[in-house]
Amino acid sequence: MAKVRIHELAKELKMNSKDLVVRLRQMGYTVKNHMSTIEEKDIIAIRKRLRPDGRKDKKGKNAAPQQPAEDAEAKEKDFRKRAQQRKEELRQKKEQNKRKIMAKVDTPFRSRTKRKRKDYQRTVLEDTEPKKIIIEDKITVQELANYLHVNGSEVIKKLIDLGVMASLNQVIDSETATLVASEFGVDVEVQDEIVELEAALDDEPDRPENMRSRPPVITVMGHVDHGKTSLLDYIRHTDVTATEAGGITQHIGAYQIEVKGKKITFLDTPGHEAFTTMRARGAQATDIAVLVVAADDGVMPQTVEAINHAKAAGVPIVVAINKMDKPGANPDIVKQQLTEYGLVAEEWGGTTICVPVSAKKGTGIDQLLEMLLLVAEMEELKANPKSLARGIVIEAELDKGRGPVATVLIQKGTLQIGDQILVGTSSGKVRAMHDFKGRRIDQALPGVPVEILGLSQVPAAGDFLYAVYEEKLARQIAEKRYEKKRQIENVIPEKVTLEELFKQIKEGKVKELNLVVKADVRGSVEALIQALEKMGDQEVRINIIHSGVGAITETDVMLASASNALVIGFNVRPDVNAKKAAEIPKS
Ligand code: GDP
Ligand code: MG
Repeated sequence: MAKVRIHELAKELKMNSKDLVVRLRQMGYTVKNHMSTIEEKDIIAIRKRLRPDGRKDKKGKNAAPQQPAEDAEAKEKDFRKRAQQRKEELRQKKEQNKRKIMAKVDTPFRSRTKRKRKDYQRTVLEDTEPKKIIIEDKITVQELANYLHVNGSEVIKKLIDLGVMASLNQVIDSETATLVASEFGVDVEVQDEIVELEAALDDEPDRPENMRSRPPVITVMGHVDHGKTSLLDYIRHTDVTATEAGGITQHIGAYQIEVKGKKITFLDTPGHEAFTTMRARGAQATDIAVLVVAADDGVMPQTVEAINHAKAAGVPIVVAINKMDKPGANPDIVKQQLTEYGLVAEEWGGTTICVPVSAKKGTGIDQLLEMLLLVAEMEELKANPKSLARGIVIEAELDKGRGPVATVLIQKGTLQIGDQILVGTSSGKVRAMHDFKGRRIDQALPGVPVEILGLSQVPAAGDFLYAVYEEKLARQIAEKRYEKKRQIENVIPEKVTLEELFKQIKEGKVKELNLVVKADVRGSVEALIQALEKMGDQEVRINIIHSGVGAITETDVMLASASNALVIGFNVRPDVNAKKAAEIPKS
Protein backbone atom coordinates (compact mmCIF):
# COMPACT_ATOMS: atom_id res chain seq x y z
CA MET A 1 0.00 0.00 0.00
CA ALA A 2 1.30 3.41 -0.90
CA LYS A 3 2.48 5.61 1.88
CA VAL A 4 2.97 9.35 2.04
CA ARG A 5 5.28 11.26 4.27
CA ILE A 6 3.79 13.87 6.50
CA HIS A 7 5.82 16.73 5.13
CA GLU A 8 4.56 15.85 1.66
CA LEU A 9 0.99 15.77 2.85
CA ALA A 10 1.55 19.07 4.64
CA LYS A 11 2.73 20.65 1.42
CA GLU A 12 -0.36 19.37 -0.34
CA LEU A 13 -2.65 20.65 2.38
CA LYS A 14 -0.71 23.93 2.49
CA MET A 15 0.04 23.42 6.15
CA ASN A 16 3.10 23.69 8.26
CA SER A 17 4.30 20.10 8.81
CA LYS A 18 4.71 20.69 12.53
CA ASP A 19 1.09 21.77 12.77
CA LEU A 20 0.06 18.75 10.81
CA VAL A 21 1.90 16.44 13.21
CA VAL A 22 0.05 18.07 16.07
CA ARG A 23 -3.28 17.81 14.29
CA LEU A 24 -2.73 14.19 13.41
CA ARG A 25 -1.83 13.35 16.97
CA GLN A 26 -4.98 15.07 18.12
CA MET A 27 -6.87 12.87 15.72
CA GLY A 28 -5.39 9.78 17.32
CA TYR A 29 -2.69 8.85 14.84
CA THR A 30 0.68 7.79 16.11
CA VAL A 31 3.14 10.03 14.34
CA LYS A 32 6.65 10.77 15.44
CA ASN A 33 7.65 13.67 13.25
CA HIS A 34 7.27 15.19 9.81
CA MET A 35 9.27 12.29 8.32
CA SER A 36 6.73 9.72 9.49
CA THR A 37 4.56 8.08 6.87
CA ILE A 38 0.83 7.68 6.60
CA GLU A 39 -1.11 4.87 5.02
CA GLU A 40 -2.99 5.73 1.89
CA LYS A 41 -6.33 4.71 3.31
CA ASP A 42 -5.83 7.15 6.14
CA ILE A 43 -4.76 9.90 3.83
CA ILE A 44 -8.15 10.08 2.24
CA ALA A 45 -9.79 10.60 5.58
CA ILE A 46 -7.19 13.11 6.59
CA ARG A 47 -7.49 15.03 3.38
CA LYS A 48 -11.21 15.21 3.85
CA ARG A 49 -10.92 16.51 7.32
CA LEU A 50 -8.05 18.90 6.97
CA ARG A 51 -8.80 20.56 3.70
CA PRO A 52 -9.99 24.05 4.52
CA ASP A 53 -13.74 24.42 4.30
CA GLY A 54 -15.18 25.39 0.94
CA ARG A 55 -11.92 24.93 -0.84
CA LYS A 56 -12.13 22.67 -3.76
CA ASP A 57 -9.51 20.85 -5.68
CA LYS A 58 -7.88 23.01 -8.29
CA LYS A 59 -9.62 21.22 -11.07
CA GLY A 60 -12.84 20.88 -9.13
CA LYS A 61 -13.00 17.24 -10.09
CA ASN A 62 -11.40 15.24 -7.37
CA ALA A 63 -12.72 17.44 -4.70
CA ALA A 64 -14.19 15.56 -1.83
CA PRO A 65 -17.88 16.09 -1.51
CA GLN A 66 -18.12 18.94 0.86
CA GLN A 67 -19.52 17.99 4.18
CA PRO A 68 -21.46 20.21 6.43
CA ALA A 69 -19.11 21.54 9.11
CA GLU A 70 -21.12 19.93 11.89
CA ASP A 71 -20.87 16.53 10.32
CA ALA A 72 -17.11 16.79 9.98
CA GLU A 73 -16.83 17.87 13.54
CA ALA A 74 -18.95 15.00 14.77
CA LYS A 75 -16.84 12.57 12.80
CA GLU A 76 -13.66 13.93 14.22
CA LYS A 77 -15.12 13.70 17.68
CA ASP A 78 -16.06 10.13 17.07
CA PHE A 79 -12.63 9.38 15.79
CA ARG A 80 -10.97 10.94 18.77
CA LYS A 81 -13.23 8.97 21.05
CA ARG A 82 -12.21 5.73 19.40
CA ALA A 83 -8.57 6.68 19.56
CA GLN A 84 -8.97 7.43 23.21
CA GLN A 85 -10.62 4.07 23.74
CA ARG A 86 -7.83 2.28 21.97
CA LYS A 87 -5.28 4.07 24.10
CA GLU A 88 -7.17 3.10 27.24
CA GLU A 89 -7.34 -0.52 26.06
CA LEU A 90 -3.62 -0.62 25.52
CA ARG A 91 -2.99 0.94 28.88
CA GLN A 92 -5.21 -1.58 30.62
CA LYS A 93 -3.55 -4.46 28.86
CA LYS A 94 -0.17 -3.22 29.91
CA GLU A 95 -1.37 -2.79 33.46
CA GLN A 96 -2.85 -6.27 33.48
CA ASN A 97 0.42 -7.78 32.39
CA LYS A 98 2.21 -5.90 35.06
CA ARG A 99 -0.33 -6.98 37.59
CA LYS A 100 0.07 -10.60 36.60
CA ILE A 101 3.73 -10.46 37.42
CA MET A 102 3.08 -8.55 40.58
CA ALA A 103 0.33 -10.94 41.63
CA LYS A 104 2.22 -11.97 44.70
CA VAL A 105 0.75 -14.81 46.69
CA ASP A 106 -0.40 -13.54 50.04
CA THR A 107 -0.44 -16.82 51.83
CA PRO A 108 2.15 -19.55 51.51
CA PHE A 109 1.33 -22.26 49.04
CA ARG A 110 0.62 -24.99 51.43
CA SER A 111 -2.33 -23.09 52.87
CA ARG A 112 -3.95 -22.74 49.46
CA THR A 113 -6.22 -25.27 47.90
CA LYS A 114 -4.84 -27.24 44.99
CA ARG A 115 -7.24 -25.63 42.58
CA LYS A 116 -6.27 -22.14 43.54
CA ARG A 117 -2.66 -23.04 43.22
CA LYS A 118 -3.21 -24.31 39.71
CA ASP A 119 -5.09 -21.19 38.76
CA TYR A 120 -2.35 -19.06 40.07
CA GLN A 121 0.33 -20.90 38.16
CA ARG A 122 -1.66 -20.72 35.00
CA THR A 123 -2.02 -16.96 35.23
CA VAL A 124 1.67 -16.56 35.53
CA LEU A 125 2.62 -19.12 32.92
CA GLU A 126 0.31 -17.61 30.32
CA ASP A 127 2.36 -14.50 30.56
CA THR A 128 5.08 -13.77 28.08
CA GLU A 129 8.72 -14.50 28.87
CA PRO A 130 9.71 -11.94 31.54
CA LYS A 131 12.82 -9.86 31.30
CA LYS A 132 12.04 -8.03 34.46
CA ILE A 133 9.96 -9.15 37.40
CA ILE A 134 8.62 -7.25 40.34
CA ILE A 135 8.69 -9.05 43.66
CA GLU A 136 8.07 -8.17 47.25
CA ASP A 137 10.72 -8.22 49.91
CA LYS A 138 10.33 -11.90 50.76
CA ILE A 139 9.39 -14.66 48.34
CA THR A 140 9.17 -18.45 48.43
CA VAL A 141 11.29 -20.54 46.10
CA GLN A 142 8.17 -21.78 44.33
CA GLU A 143 6.86 -18.27 43.81
CA LEU A 144 10.16 -17.16 42.36
CA ALA A 145 10.15 -20.14 40.00
CA ASN A 146 6.65 -19.15 38.89
CA TYR A 147 7.72 -15.59 38.26
CA LEU A 148 10.70 -16.80 36.28
CA HIS A 149 8.62 -19.36 34.37
CA VAL A 150 10.98 -22.14 35.27
CA ASN A 151 10.69 -25.33 37.22
CA GLY A 152 11.10 -25.07 41.00
CA SER A 153 13.97 -27.53 40.93
CA GLU A 154 15.93 -25.28 38.58
CA VAL A 155 15.70 -22.49 41.12
CA ILE A 156 16.76 -24.86 43.88
CA LYS A 157 19.79 -25.86 41.80
CA LYS A 158 20.82 -22.25 41.36
CA LEU A 159 20.34 -21.67 45.06
CA ILE A 160 22.62 -24.59 45.88
CA ASP A 161 25.23 -23.06 43.58
CA LEU A 162 24.92 -19.92 45.67
CA GLY A 163 25.36 -21.99 48.84
CA VAL A 164 21.73 -21.67 49.91
CA MET A 165 19.82 -24.81 50.85
CA ALA A 166 16.14 -24.19 50.46
CA SER A 167 13.03 -26.19 49.80
CA LEU A 168 10.17 -25.09 47.55
CA ASN A 169 8.09 -23.36 50.18
CA GLN A 170 10.98 -21.79 51.98
CA VAL A 171 11.15 -18.03 51.97
CA ILE A 172 14.24 -16.35 50.55
CA ASP A 173 15.04 -12.68 50.72
CA SER A 174 14.95 -10.30 47.81
CA GLU A 175 18.73 -10.17 47.52
CA THR A 176 18.99 -13.92 47.04
CA ALA A 177 16.02 -13.85 44.68
CA THR A 178 17.74 -11.13 42.65
CA LEU A 179 20.88 -13.23 42.33
CA VAL A 180 18.94 -16.28 41.22
CA ALA A 181 16.90 -14.27 38.73
CA SER A 182 20.05 -12.79 37.21
CA GLU A 183 21.21 -16.36 36.55
CA PHE A 184 18.14 -16.66 34.34
CA GLY A 185 18.83 -13.32 32.73
CA VAL A 186 15.95 -11.60 34.48
CA ASP A 187 16.08 -8.31 36.32
CA VAL A 188 14.34 -7.94 39.62
CA GLU A 189 12.66 -4.92 40.98
CA VAL A 190 11.87 -5.16 44.65
CA GLN A 191 8.58 -3.62 45.44
CA ASP A 192 7.83 -3.35 49.07
CA GLU A 193 4.23 -2.40 49.60
CA ILE A 194 4.85 -1.80 53.27
CA VAL A 195 7.60 0.68 52.54
CA GLU A 196 5.25 2.54 50.24
CA LEU A 197 2.50 2.64 52.82
CA GLU A 198 4.92 3.60 55.55
CA ALA A 199 6.03 6.62 53.58
CA ALA A 200 2.72 8.16 54.64
CA LEU A 201 3.99 8.12 58.21
CA ASP A 202 6.82 10.52 57.47
CA ASP A 203 6.58 13.72 59.40
CA GLU A 204 6.79 17.26 58.24
CA PRO A 205 9.85 18.93 59.70
CA ASP A 206 9.08 20.55 63.04
CA ARG A 207 8.94 24.31 63.11
CA PRO A 208 11.56 25.76 65.47
CA GLU A 209 8.94 27.89 67.24
CA ASN A 210 7.04 24.73 68.21
CA MET A 211 9.99 23.11 69.94
CA ARG A 212 9.74 22.81 73.73
CA SER A 213 12.21 21.30 76.16
CA ARG A 214 11.29 17.83 77.35
CA PRO A 215 12.41 15.67 80.26
CA PRO A 216 15.58 13.61 79.76
CA VAL A 217 15.15 9.85 79.52
CA ILE A 218 17.63 7.87 81.58
CA THR A 219 18.65 4.21 81.45
CA VAL A 220 20.58 2.61 84.30
CA MET A 221 23.16 0.11 83.13
CA GLY A 222 25.97 -1.90 84.69
CA HIS A 223 27.20 -5.26 85.86
CA VAL A 224 24.84 -7.64 87.62
CA ASP A 225 24.51 -7.04 91.37
CA HIS A 226 26.21 -3.66 91.23
CA GLY A 227 22.96 -2.06 92.35
CA LYS A 228 20.91 -0.99 89.31
CA THR A 229 17.58 -2.09 90.75
CA SER A 230 18.42 -0.68 94.19
CA LEU A 231 19.35 2.68 92.65
CA LEU A 232 16.19 2.84 90.57
CA ASP A 233 14.09 1.91 93.59
CA TYR A 234 15.74 4.49 95.78
CA ILE A 235 15.30 7.24 93.21
CA ARG A 236 11.68 6.30 92.70
CA HIS A 237 11.07 6.89 96.37
CA THR A 238 12.93 10.20 96.61
CA ASP A 239 10.00 11.81 94.89
CA VAL A 240 7.46 12.54 97.58
CA THR A 241 4.61 12.55 95.13
CA ALA A 242 5.51 9.03 94.04
CA THR A 243 4.87 7.64 97.50
CA GLU A 244 2.05 9.94 98.53
CA ALA A 245 -0.85 8.28 100.27
CA GLY A 246 -3.13 6.47 97.89
CA GLY A 247 -0.71 6.69 95.01
CA ILE A 248 -0.17 3.12 93.94
CA THR A 249 3.22 2.82 92.34
CA GLN A 250 2.85 0.14 89.75
CA HIS A 251 5.41 -1.31 87.46
CA ILE A 252 5.07 -0.06 83.92
CA GLY A 253 8.72 -0.23 82.95
CA ALA A 254 9.38 3.45 83.40
CA TYR A 255 8.72 6.25 85.81
CA GLN A 256 9.13 9.97 86.21
CA ILE A 257 10.37 12.03 89.12
CA GLU A 258 10.63 15.75 89.72
CA VAL A 259 13.86 17.38 90.86
CA LYS A 260 13.91 21.12 91.50
CA GLY A 261 10.75 21.52 89.47
CA LYS A 262 12.21 19.61 86.54
CA LYS A 263 11.09 16.19 85.40
CA ILE A 264 13.37 13.22 84.77
CA THR A 265 12.18 9.99 83.16
CA PHE A 266 13.78 6.70 84.13
CA LEU A 267 13.48 3.55 82.09
CA ASP A 268 13.08 0.70 84.51
CA THR A 269 13.66 -2.20 82.16
CA PRO A 270 16.16 -5.03 82.35
CA GLY A 271 19.38 -3.05 81.97
CA HIS A 272 21.26 -2.89 78.75
CA GLU A 273 19.43 -5.83 77.20
CA ALA A 274 16.51 -3.52 76.62
CA PHE A 275 18.85 -0.78 75.52
CA THR A 276 20.49 -3.05 72.95
CA THR A 277 17.29 -4.64 71.77
CA MET A 278 15.78 -1.25 71.12
CA ARG A 279 18.85 -0.08 69.34
CA ALA A 280 18.87 -3.21 67.25
CA ARG A 281 15.39 -2.23 66.17
CA GLY A 282 16.54 1.21 65.26
CA ALA A 283 14.94 2.85 68.24
CA GLN A 284 16.78 5.02 70.65
CA ALA A 285 14.86 5.74 73.77
CA THR A 286 17.66 6.87 76.04
CA ASP A 287 19.23 10.33 76.34
CA ILE A 288 21.67 9.64 79.17
CA ALA A 289 23.08 6.36 80.51
CA VAL A 290 23.83 6.00 84.20
CA LEU A 291 26.63 3.48 84.56
CA VAL A 292 26.47 1.81 87.94
CA VAL A 293 29.81 0.42 89.16
CA ALA A 294 30.10 -1.12 92.60
CA ALA A 295 32.95 0.54 94.44
CA ASP A 296 33.92 -2.76 96.06
CA ASP A 297 33.94 -4.73 92.82
CA GLY A 298 35.10 -2.34 90.12
CA VAL A 299 34.73 -2.60 86.35
CA MET A 300 33.37 -6.01 85.33
CA PRO A 301 32.51 -7.59 81.94
CA GLN A 302 28.97 -6.22 81.80
CA THR A 303 30.29 -2.80 82.83
CA VAL A 304 32.45 -2.83 79.71
CA GLU A 305 29.54 -4.07 77.62
CA ALA A 306 27.38 -1.24 78.91
CA ILE A 307 30.09 1.33 78.12
CA ASN A 308 30.36 -0.01 74.59
CA HIS A 309 26.61 0.06 74.04
CA ALA A 310 26.28 3.62 75.30
CA LYS A 311 29.26 4.75 73.22
CA ALA A 312 27.95 3.04 70.11
CA ALA A 313 24.66 4.82 70.62
CA GLY A 314 26.40 8.14 71.22
CA VAL A 315 24.67 8.48 74.57
CA PRO A 316 26.49 10.46 77.30
CA ILE A 317 27.50 8.41 80.34
CA VAL A 318 27.23 9.52 83.96
CA VAL A 319 28.99 7.13 86.34
CA ALA A 320 27.43 6.24 89.69
CA ILE A 321 30.06 4.64 91.88
CA ASN A 322 27.77 2.62 94.11
CA LYS A 323 28.01 0.81 97.45
CA MET A 324 30.14 3.59 98.94
CA ASP A 325 28.87 2.52 102.36
CA LYS A 326 30.77 -0.75 102.09
CA PRO A 327 34.07 -1.08 103.94
CA GLY A 328 36.00 -2.17 100.85
CA ALA A 329 34.73 0.72 98.72
CA ASN A 330 37.44 2.35 96.64
CA PRO A 331 36.20 4.90 94.12
CA ASP A 332 39.71 5.70 92.89
CA ILE A 333 40.27 2.16 91.69
CA VAL A 334 36.98 2.38 89.77
CA LYS A 335 37.99 5.70 88.19
CA GLN A 336 41.39 4.25 87.32
CA GLN A 337 39.79 1.23 85.65
CA LEU A 338 37.35 3.44 83.73
CA THR A 339 40.17 5.41 82.11
CA GLU A 340 41.09 2.22 80.26
CA TYR A 341 37.75 2.51 78.47
CA GLY A 342 38.08 6.15 77.61
CA LEU A 343 36.08 7.48 80.56
CA VAL A 344 38.27 9.98 82.42
CA ALA A 345 36.72 11.50 85.53
CA GLU A 346 36.29 15.29 85.61
CA GLU A 347 38.38 15.63 88.75
CA TRP A 348 41.15 13.90 86.83
CA GLY A 349 40.95 16.32 83.95
CA GLY A 350 38.48 14.36 81.86
CA THR A 351 34.84 14.94 80.95
CA THR A 352 33.14 12.02 82.67
CA ILE A 353 30.98 12.91 85.63
CA CYS A 354 31.48 10.40 88.47
CA VAL A 355 29.25 10.51 91.52
CA PRO A 356 29.92 8.33 94.57
CA VAL A 357 26.60 7.03 95.90
CA SER A 358 25.02 4.45 98.12
CA ALA A 359 21.73 3.10 96.85
CA LYS A 360 21.29 1.46 100.21
CA LYS A 361 21.85 4.52 102.42
CA GLY A 362 20.74 7.08 99.89
CA THR A 363 23.92 9.12 100.05
CA GLY A 364 24.97 11.01 96.93
CA ILE A 365 21.67 10.40 95.12
CA ASP A 366 20.64 14.07 95.16
CA GLN A 367 23.97 14.99 93.63
CA LEU A 368 23.56 12.30 90.98
CA LEU A 369 20.13 13.65 90.04
CA GLU A 370 21.48 17.19 89.84
CA MET A 371 24.24 16.00 87.53
CA LEU A 372 21.64 14.32 85.33
CA LEU A 373 19.75 17.60 85.05
CA LEU A 374 22.98 19.36 84.21
CA VAL A 375 23.86 16.92 81.43
CA ALA A 376 20.27 17.07 80.16
CA GLU A 377 20.53 20.86 80.00
CA MET A 378 23.71 20.62 77.97
CA GLU A 379 22.02 18.21 75.59
CA GLU A 380 19.24 20.75 74.94
CA LEU A 381 16.58 18.09 74.68
CA LYS A 382 13.60 19.42 72.79
CA ALA A 383 10.52 18.07 71.08
CA ASN A 384 7.49 19.40 69.28
CA PRO A 385 4.41 18.67 71.38
CA LYS A 386 2.07 19.92 68.66
CA SER A 387 2.60 17.16 66.12
CA LEU A 388 1.00 13.72 65.92
CA ALA A 389 2.41 11.53 68.68
CA ARG A 390 5.50 9.41 68.08
CA GLY A 391 6.88 7.01 70.67
CA ILE A 392 8.69 3.78 71.48
CA VAL A 393 7.35 0.69 73.21
CA ILE A 394 9.27 0.05 76.42
CA GLU A 395 7.46 -3.13 77.26
CA ALA A 396 4.16 -4.81 76.54
CA GLU A 397 2.11 -7.72 77.73
CA LEU A 398 -1.23 -9.39 77.38
CA ASP A 399 -3.43 -8.60 80.35
CA LYS A 400 -6.19 -11.09 80.96
CA GLY A 401 -8.84 -8.50 81.61
CA ARG A 402 -7.59 -5.54 79.65
CA GLY A 403 -6.11 -7.12 76.54
CA PRO A 404 -2.82 -5.93 75.05
CA VAL A 405 -1.15 -3.37 77.30
CA ALA A 406 1.87 -1.40 76.13
CA THR A 407 4.12 1.01 77.96
CA VAL A 408 5.17 3.65 75.53
CA LEU A 409 7.64 6.47 75.90
CA ILE A 410 6.28 9.46 74.03
CA GLN A 411 9.10 11.09 72.08
CA LYS A 412 7.29 13.71 70.12
CA GLY A 413 3.82 15.17 69.81
CA THR A 414 1.00 14.62 72.25
CA LEU A 415 -0.84 11.34 72.53
CA GLN A 416 -4.49 11.66 73.40
CA ILE A 417 -7.35 9.37 74.28
CA GLY A 418 -9.13 8.38 71.08
CA ASP A 419 -6.05 8.76 68.85
CA GLN A 420 -5.70 6.23 66.06
CA ILE A 421 -2.39 4.48 66.48
CA LEU A 422 -0.06 2.07 64.75
CA VAL A 423 2.45 0.14 66.85
CA GLY A 424 4.52 -2.50 65.06
CA THR A 425 2.12 -5.15 63.77
CA SER A 426 -0.64 -3.80 65.93
CA SER A 427 -3.11 -0.98 65.44
CA GLY A 428 -6.03 0.48 67.31
CA LYS A 429 -7.45 3.45 69.09
CA VAL A 430 -6.17 4.69 72.43
CA ARG A 431 -8.94 3.52 74.75
CA ALA A 432 -7.34 4.50 78.02
CA MET A 433 -4.01 5.79 79.28
CA HIS A 434 -2.36 5.51 82.67
CA ASP A 435 0.74 7.12 84.05
CA PHE A 436 3.34 5.14 86.00
CA LYS A 437 1.31 5.52 89.15
CA GLY A 438 -1.69 3.93 87.53
CA ARG A 439 -3.63 7.18 87.35
CA ARG A 440 -5.84 7.72 84.35
CA ILE A 441 -4.61 10.48 82.08
CA ASP A 442 -6.08 12.03 78.94
CA GLN A 443 -2.90 13.05 77.22
CA ALA A 444 0.80 12.35 77.28
CA LEU A 445 3.52 14.81 76.29
CA PRO A 446 7.05 14.14 75.00
CA GLY A 447 9.31 12.41 77.53
CA VAL A 448 6.37 10.87 79.36
CA PRO A 449 6.05 7.10 79.82
CA VAL A 450 2.47 6.00 79.48
CA GLU A 451 0.53 2.79 79.60
CA ILE A 452 -1.85 2.37 76.66
CA LEU A 453 -4.91 0.19 76.21
CA GLY A 454 -6.72 -0.40 72.94
CA LEU A 455 -4.23 -2.17 70.68
CA SER A 456 -5.20 -5.17 68.55
CA GLN A 457 -2.11 -7.20 69.51
CA VAL A 458 0.78 -7.16 71.93
CA PRO A 459 3.53 -5.12 70.31
CA ALA A 460 7.25 -5.75 70.85
CA ALA A 461 9.69 -3.73 72.92
CA GLY A 462 11.32 -1.24 70.60
CA ASP A 463 8.34 -0.98 68.25
CA PHE A 464 7.55 2.55 67.19
CA LEU A 465 4.22 4.15 67.94
CA TYR A 466 2.64 6.40 65.36
CA ALA A 467 -0.53 8.35 65.87
CA VAL A 468 -2.24 8.73 62.50
CA TYR A 469 -5.18 10.61 61.07
CA GLU A 470 -6.60 7.63 59.25
CA GLU A 471 -7.60 4.46 60.99
CA LYS A 472 -7.37 2.65 57.66
CA LEU A 473 -3.72 3.51 57.15
CA ALA A 474 -2.78 2.19 60.58
CA ARG A 475 -4.72 -0.99 60.03
CA GLN A 476 -3.33 -1.60 56.56
CA ILE A 477 0.28 -1.19 57.62
CA ALA A 478 -0.22 -3.32 60.73
CA GLU A 479 -1.82 -6.08 58.68
CA LYS A 480 0.87 -6.02 56.01
CA ARG A 481 3.59 -6.15 58.63
CA TYR A 482 1.87 -9.01 60.39
CA GLU A 483 1.47 -10.91 57.14
CA LYS A 484 5.13 -10.48 56.41
CA LYS A 485 6.12 -11.61 59.87
CA ARG A 486 3.92 -14.66 59.57
CA GLN A 487 5.41 -15.52 56.24
CA ILE A 488 8.90 -15.47 57.66
CA GLU A 489 7.82 -17.51 60.65
CA ASN A 490 6.11 -20.05 58.43
CA VAL A 491 9.32 -21.36 56.98
CA ILE A 492 9.58 -25.07 57.62
CA PRO A 493 13.14 -26.20 58.09
CA GLU A 494 14.34 -29.68 57.17
CA LYS A 495 13.14 -32.40 59.52
CA VAL A 496 15.34 -33.69 62.30
CA THR A 497 13.84 -36.12 64.79
CA LEU A 498 13.79 -34.88 68.34
CA GLU A 499 15.37 -38.01 69.79
CA GLU A 500 18.44 -37.58 67.66
CA LEU A 501 18.68 -33.86 68.08
CA PHE A 502 21.26 -33.74 70.84
CA LYS A 503 23.25 -36.60 69.40
CA GLN A 504 23.38 -34.81 66.11
CA ILE A 505 24.37 -31.53 67.70
CA LYS A 506 27.25 -33.34 69.36
CA GLU A 507 28.28 -34.92 66.09
CA GLY A 508 28.09 -31.55 64.44
CA LYS A 509 25.39 -32.72 62.04
CA VAL A 510 22.75 -30.28 63.20
CA LYS A 511 23.43 -26.83 61.92
CA GLU A 512 20.35 -25.20 63.34
CA LEU A 513 18.54 -25.46 66.62
CA ASN A 514 14.97 -24.28 66.41
CA LEU A 515 13.39 -22.73 69.46
CA VAL A 516 10.01 -21.42 70.49
CA VAL A 517 10.39 -18.85 73.25
CA LYS A 518 7.61 -17.79 75.59
CA ALA A 519 7.81 -15.52 78.62
CA ASP A 520 5.65 -13.49 80.96
CA VAL A 521 6.45 -10.02 79.62
CA ARG A 522 7.85 -8.66 76.38
CA GLY A 523 11.01 -7.42 78.04
CA SER A 524 11.84 -10.93 79.18
CA VAL A 525 11.11 -12.37 75.75
CA GLU A 526 13.47 -9.89 74.13
CA ALA A 527 16.17 -10.47 76.73
CA LEU A 528 15.81 -14.24 76.41
CA ILE A 529 16.04 -14.14 72.63
CA GLN A 530 19.13 -11.98 72.81
CA ALA A 531 20.78 -14.32 75.27
CA LEU A 532 19.83 -17.42 73.29
CA GLU A 533 20.96 -16.01 69.99
CA LYS A 534 24.29 -15.17 71.53
CA MET A 535 24.65 -18.81 72.59
CA GLY A 536 24.66 -19.95 69.00
CA ASP A 537 28.08 -20.39 67.44
CA GLN A 538 29.51 -21.29 64.09
CA GLU A 539 28.63 -24.94 64.52
CA VAL A 540 25.04 -24.57 65.63
CA ARG A 541 22.87 -21.65 64.68
CA ILE A 542 20.10 -20.76 67.10
CA ASN A 543 16.94 -20.15 65.21
CA ILE A 544 14.03 -18.63 67.10
CA ILE A 545 11.06 -19.65 65.02
CA HIS A 546 8.47 -18.13 67.29
CA SER A 547 8.32 -16.02 70.39
CA GLY A 548 5.59 -14.41 72.37
CA VAL A 549 4.10 -13.28 75.63
CA GLY A 550 1.93 -15.54 77.73
CA ALA A 551 1.49 -19.20 78.59
CA ILE A 552 2.80 -21.95 76.34
CA THR A 553 -0.20 -22.90 74.22
CA GLU A 554 -1.18 -25.81 72.05
CA THR A 555 -0.22 -23.87 68.93
CA ASP A 556 3.25 -23.30 70.33
CA VAL A 557 3.66 -27.04 70.81
CA MET A 558 2.23 -27.73 67.36
CA LEU A 559 4.57 -25.25 65.78
CA ALA A 560 7.52 -26.70 67.67
CA SER A 561 6.60 -30.24 66.72
CA ALA A 562 6.18 -29.27 63.08
CA SER A 563 9.63 -27.77 62.96
CA ASN A 564 11.49 -29.97 65.44
CA ALA A 565 11.88 -27.11 67.82
CA LEU A 566 12.26 -26.96 71.56
CA VAL A 567 9.90 -24.82 73.60
CA ILE A 568 11.48 -22.60 76.21
CA GLY A 569 9.28 -20.93 78.79
CA PHE A 570 10.36 -18.23 81.19
CA ASN A 571 8.05 -17.50 84.13
CA VAL A 572 5.21 -19.14 82.21
CA ARG A 573 3.56 -22.53 82.28
CA PRO A 574 2.11 -24.64 79.52
CA ASP A 575 -1.68 -24.59 79.54
CA VAL A 576 -3.70 -27.80 79.70
CA ASN A 577 -4.04 -28.24 75.95
CA ALA A 578 -0.38 -27.57 75.41
CA LYS A 579 0.51 -30.26 77.95
CA LYS A 580 -1.77 -32.73 76.22
CA ALA A 581 -0.35 -31.87 72.83
CA ALA A 582 3.20 -32.25 74.09
CA GLU A 583 2.46 -35.69 75.52
CA ILE A 584 1.18 -37.14 72.27
CA PRO A 585 3.92 -39.38 70.99
CA LYS A 586 5.28 -38.54 67.58
CA SER A 587 4.15 -40.94 64.94
P1 GDP B 1 21.41 -5.19 90.11
O1 GDP B 1 21.63 -6.62 89.74
O2 GDP B 1 22.44 -4.31 89.46
O3 GDP B 1 20.02 -4.71 89.86
O4 GDP B 1 21.71 -5.05 91.66
P2 GDP B 1 20.67 -4.97 92.85
O5 GDP B 1 20.08 -3.63 92.95
O6 GDP B 1 19.74 -6.11 92.78
O7 GDP B 1 21.66 -5.13 94.08
C1 GDP B 1 22.43 -6.28 94.29
C2 GDP B 1 22.77 -6.41 95.73
O8 GDP B 1 23.57 -5.34 96.15
C3 GDP B 1 21.53 -6.40 96.64
O9 GDP B 1 21.69 -7.33 97.66
C4 GDP B 1 21.50 -5.00 97.19
O10 GDP B 1 20.91 -4.93 98.45
C5 GDP B 1 22.97 -4.67 97.26
N1 GDP B 1 23.21 -3.23 97.13
C6 GDP B 1 22.78 -2.42 96.16
N2 GDP B 1 23.22 -1.16 96.36
C7 GDP B 1 23.94 -1.18 97.52
C8 GDP B 1 24.64 -0.18 98.28
O11 GDP B 1 24.70 1.00 97.94
N3 GDP B 1 25.26 -0.60 99.41
C9 GDP B 1 25.24 -1.88 99.82
N4 GDP B 1 25.86 -2.19 100.93
N5 GDP B 1 24.57 -2.84 99.15
C10 GDP B 1 23.94 -2.50 98.01
MG1 MG C 1 18.40 -5.75 88.99
